[in-house]
Amino acid sequence: QADIAMYWAKEKGRDNAQFFTSDMTNIATQKFGFEKEIKESLALEQFFLVYQPKVLKEKHRIIGLEALIRWQHPTKGMISPAEFIPIAEESNLIIHIDEWVLNQTFIQLQAWQDEGRTLVPIAVNISGRHLVSDGLVTYIAKKMDFYGIEGRWLELEITEGVFLHDIERCIEVMAQLKALGIKISIDDFGTGYSSLSYLKRLPLDTLKIDQSFVGECAEHTEDTKICETIIHLAQSLKLRIVAEGVETAPQADMLMSLGCYIFQGYHFYKPMLAKDTALLLTKDHVVSEEVHDHE
Ligand code: C2E
Ligand code: MG
Ligand code: MG
Ligand code: MG
Repeated sequence: QADIAMYWAKEKGRDNAQFFTSDMTNIATQKFGFEKEIKESLALEQFFLVYQPKVLKEKHRIIGLEALIRWQHPTKGMISPAEFIPIAEESNLIIHIDEWVLNQTFIQLQAWQDEGRTLVPIAVNISGRHLVSDGLVTYIAKKMDFYGIEGRWLELEITEGVFLHDIERCIEVMAQLKALGIKISIDDFGTGYSSLSYLKRLPLDTLKIDQSFVGECAEHTEDTKICETIIHLAQSLKLRIVAEGVETAPQADMLMSLGCYIFQGYHFYKPMLAKDTALLLTKDHVVSEEVHDHE
């Protein structure tokens, strides 16, 4: 219970708090110790997942969840993924983390499925390094089989950077994931370097507009035009569009007027513990895929 209270306090305060940056810098400079510490922490269950709903148009109509990792360090408190994921991405450590998150997500899906809850797809953030590695598709297929979960309940969020390095490999892996029924999103869209020809060739489902463009989109700024451009791009490529980091009603209204109807952000829901997320997985709260696809 103390952990949970702490989780909420930190999540609320995250806009104005810089979490443990100096500690993390210390850890990062002693990379070796850091890697060891993360591996141990995975085993010691210092990590847990929180879930942030993706909502269609109005509050309380959920079309999906995103799993976000949290590290409850015994002495340093809660460490933000924005601090440790970039460091983990410099080595194969990120693969351990991603696999832990995938496994945990399957465990959660199975538990919710067994409880008879109305499932929605859960999106997992996958590092580009992991996407192009050999093991990802096999790992996921094995877990789907083991936990008895269909691929349509899993979505992967990938940032643009990876496409630059090996587009052919990305296309190959994504095609294998699609064959398993898994959905694929580009995360933080607009901040990377995707060329239009890459976008056309990748078997994608969704673009997520980066929150840096959403922040001032309601104020008729350059960011409004960027959001509009990204939305039009998604429409012409027949991709879903999701806006992340939506914090106010005017932002959601502006985005809707521009043609974006799926939102993620504090205005709707903050990332939540599994037990609170579970309460939302009922027919009343969830919008089925079919309804959404006719939007
Ligand atoms: P992301 O995937 O783009 O996730 C969105 C981030 O924005 C999350 O931060 C979320 O808590 C936060 N957020 C959501 N709504 C709002 C809002 O209205 N306002 C603001 N200011 N922030 C909002 P979080 O959980 O700290 O994660 C940061 C990044 O760390 C993620 O960005 C993702 O790139 C990475 N990450 C998180 N969990 C994982 C994971 O399990 N595996 C991997 N590989 N990366 C992860
Ligand atoms: Mg994401
Ligand atoms: Mg993002
Ligand atoms: Mg991000």
